[in-house]
Amino acid sequence: MASGPGSAARADALLQLRGVNKRYGQAHVLRDVDLDVAAGEVVVLLGPSGSGKSTLCRCVNRLETVDSGEIVLDGTPLPAEGRELARLRAQVGMVFQSFNLFGHRTVLDNITLAPVRVRRLAPDRARARALELLDRVGLADKADAHPAQLSGGQQQRVAIARALAMDPRLILFDEPTSALDPEMIGEVLEVMTELAAEGMTMLVVTHEMGFARRAADRVAFMDQGRILETAPPEAFFDRPESDRARDFLARIL
Ligand code: ADP
Ligand code: MG
Repeated sequence: MASGPGSAARADALLQLRGVNKRYGQAHVLRDVDLDVAAGEVVVLLGPSGSGKSTLCRCVNRLETVDSGEIVLDGTPLPAEGRELARLRAQVGMVFQSFNLFGHRTVLDNITLAPVRVRRLAPDRARARALELLDRVGLADKADAHPAQLSGGQQQRVAIARALAMDPRLILFDEPTSALDPEMIGEVLEVMTELAAEGMTMLVVTHEMGFARRAADRVAFMDQGRILETAPPEAFFDRPESDRARDFLARIL
């Protein structure tokens, strides 16, 4: 089942990276990266620190530009700028390690701001939807709290609700549990596992191997800017193909 770097293109891919290269000065951080994520698929991106995982995420939602290659969302290549880029970016949710909530705003405001400003949703509708999403992430009683009054796990669940409020086609998660105390990791992974089961399309950078095994449809392993292998989790964890992946797994498992 495992497929190597140029794995075959999928006609139904929601997200496609085609020959993506990215350099920071002399550092060649993404090297000919090809990756497809089909609608409804959960792809977990693994790899050692510095291998380019965050840069890949940042290129997908155009926090960074690519030097060459293409990033295609639902058949449309992301343009460098302009209205079409804004439209496409609004379809990509992002959840970071450091929740990035607005500290001086309530939880409810954090969730409704973008839908009202960017999607022009009526404030009362945005509010109703935000309350629904808060309930879904188990925080119905925290609408009027400020982020500083919440635990890290609660703040990250708010960040997930905030991403969902934009009705994204795809959500990128970049180490969403890495900044959390151990006892809070489970509650965030549980919300992510539910989203995965509900059919959300997700690209997830994580070191939580239990989550990868349980929730991923495919694992992509990255090293030094290249995707060295992609495979279903059972195949990847039981029979990694590359020496690099074997070394990586030996170190973390
Ligand atoms: P990962 O998320 O897998 O740990 P990153 O994508 O953060 O890896 O980084 C990949 C490489 O790119 C690292 O060598 C890092 O130092 C470098 N890098 C990341 N961001 C920048 C930047 N803004 N300027 C220069 N180098 C960067
Ligand atoms: Mg990173």
